[in-house]
Amino acid sequence: MEYFASPVARLIEEFSKLPGVGKKTAQRLAFYVLNMDKNEAVSLANAIVNAKEKIKYCNICSNLTDGDICYICRDKRRDQTTICVVEDPRDIIAMEKTKEYKGLYHVLHGSISPMDGIGPEDIRIKELLHRIQGSDVKEVILATNPTIEGEATAMYISKLLKPMGIKTTRIAHGIPVGGDLEYADEVTLSRALEGRREI
Ligand SMILES: [Zn+2]
Repeated sequence: MEYFASPVARLIEEFSKLPGVGKKTAQRLAFYVLNMDKNEAVSLANAIVNAKEKIKYCNICSNLTDGDICYICRDKRRDQTTICVVEDPRDIIAMEKTKEYKGLYHVLHGSISPMDGIGPEDIRIKELLHRIQGSDVKEVILATNPTIEGEATAMYISKLLKPMGIKTTRIAHGIPVGGDLEYADEVTLSRALEGRREI
């Protein structure tokens, strides 16, 4: 790093913190920014700050939103009796692309992972139970990732929902074990949704 003037070194260091960005790519991005028009560079920096400041979690489902309630929870035409539970806001985008699902969502922001010290109280399960109580919700679809953590999380939630008389289903086949919902193609995800089974 001593080859670079310190502002450049800092920029490279910041880029190298991004996922999937190694030292070489970080250097390339830093030099790209240095060659940018000043206005473009300021616009990039502002976009980062703006997104960070404006985006928060939906008060109802914990999806990302720039208001108090996200566009899905605001849409009264959506089926208010079904909630699809996902780990990450990006999974909502994947599900929406299927155009099959018309219900509501709930984002857990993670999965139960004792190995990483993440317990049920560290993800948004409480919020899910709270919103279901006294609501019209009849079915909860557990669309956590087909990983060990995702399966454990689905089982944990289904055990809590059963006594509440809520039908609990798990999305089925098609998603490879260890795979990420976000990267599943639309057809695979549609089939997984259709083939969900009660747990
Ligand atoms: Zn919402």
